[in-house]
Amino acid sequence: MSNIRVTVWNEGRHEKRDAAIAAVYPQGIHGAIAEGLAGQPGLEVRTATLDEPEHGLTDQVVANTDVLIWWGHMAHRDVRDDIVDKVQAAVLEGMGLIVLHSGHFSKIFRRLMGTNCSLIWREIGEKERVWVTAPGHPIVRGLGPYFEIPHTEMYGEFFDIPQPDELIFISWYPGGEVFRSGCAFYRGRGKVFYFSPGHETFPIYYQAEVRQVIANAVRWAAPVPVVGFRDLKLAPNAKTPLEPVTISA
Ligand code: ZN
Repeated sequence: MSNIRVTVWNEGRHEKRDAAIAAVYPQGIHGAIAEGLAGQPGLEVRTATLDEPEHGLTDQVVANTDVLIWWGHMAHRDVRDDIVDKVQAAVLEGMGLIVLHSGHFSKIFRRLMGTNCSLIWREIGEKERVWVTAPGHPIVRGLGPYFEIPHTEMYGEFFDIPQPDELIFISWYPGGEVFRSGCAFYRGRGKVFYFSPGHETFPIYYQAEVRQVIANAVRWAAPVPVVGFRDLKLAPNAKTPLEPVTISA
């Protein structure tokens, strides 16, 4: 089997503007995520950031990406619409997309969901207990019934998304809220996974369980080869039935 080609995309602005955040993520959030994937067999990992030409997502990069990981927060509006169009088209053609944390408000996630994707939040560094709600799913491979993130930003319901095709995690916080923190969706031939942990001021992308989830999600979201499948952009008239059909008067 050939390697899964992963592109870790990060807006990369917080780390440039805030020394405290740069201290948590000296290689950038993308660097920490890529580092977490680097030890995984069968993955080829590259990174791309907002301020590169075409946000680092040239036609060539997108065409050679099996799974795209997306982290954005303060600069969603700076993402060019034509790049969003290109990423959406790639997902519908089979590219996997993993949207992390504040990427819930990214143009690409809202485009693919068709809803506001809003939620409630609170940043006091409370604990998060992430419960597995799909124990047979490949994304939870290697995890126990739950894991805990010691300090996190609370994301709470109502999360304005369509009902997920598969609900993988629900998070609980000491403040009382809960959140659908791991949600899987199918769009065209592509798979989309939203995973909420990962605020920029907490070292969440170094945590083993979080890295495990992201690696599992990459393997789940990788395109499945199909043979002779029709072009999903077209709606052909299937004039000739597969079997002879007799129409009675
Ligand atoms: Zn955050």
